[in-house]
Amino acid sequence: MRRPFIAGNWKMHTTEADAVALAAAVREQTAAAACDVAVCVPFPHLGPVREALRGGHVRLGAQDVHWEPKGAFTGEVSAPMLEDYCQLVIIGHSERRQYFCETDEWVNRKLRALLASRLDPIVCIGETLDQRRAGETEAVLERQLRGALAGIEPSARITIAYEPVWAIGTGETATPEQAQEACAFVRRILRELGGPVADAIRIQYGGSVNPANAAALLAQPDIDGALVGGASLDVAQFAAICAAV
Ligand code: PGA
Repeated sequence: MRRPFIAGNWKMHTTEADAVALAAAVREQTAAAACDVAVCVPFPHLGPVREALRGGHVRLGAQDVHWEPKGAFTGEVSAPMLEDYCQLVIIGHSERRQYFCETDEWVNRKLRALLASRLDPIVCIGETLDQRRAGETEAVLERQLRGALAGIEPSARITIAYEPVWAIGTGETATPEQAQEACAFVRRILRELGGPVADAIRIQYGGSVNPANAAALLAQPDIDGALVGGASLDVAQFAAICAAV
């Protein structure tokens, strides 16, 4: 009932030429995938990649957004601006929380801005290694999720990405059991917040997903897809992950 959703997060990688070539290759090599496919690219490449993806099945996303529609916010980009270019936006990524002081309150404001626009959000949450070791995983996930959704009616337009911080870019993946346990917990909280819509909201796993571990992760009942960093920059790996659905 939930169509799997694999999204690439290119982070701060690719030149414009690389981005266009990679997007075209993703379009070609994931055409037969039994899942929704998206790539989330650096802001300057949104225009050229939009052209490379036009008319195809691959959705395009950005990696952040400001909550105000316009104003004196040097360096920021708003949802109305992004609407001309893409269909979805990642918010709350752990790198933004860690390096750019992004808080749950900011994520909440960004989520409101996206839901008021035509852009679909991917909301990232996840615990650090210290938090996991301290037995705080569920408390952290609950705080981040309730914080992001405070005052917001949960909607099937929202995708949640569960990304344990210790698994991002480290080559260390959560086991399918660990990932399932966390995603099932996320769905329980979503059910408390939104009732039946929780069963329509897709929950992705993210953190060192690759062609070797994707199938076992994606086979878990509460894991509806993946948010893929490093492996999304290699079209063969990304296509293999999409094919593992
Ligand atoms: P990774 O990144 O696949 O390189 O671990 C995932 C992410 O940060 O979304």
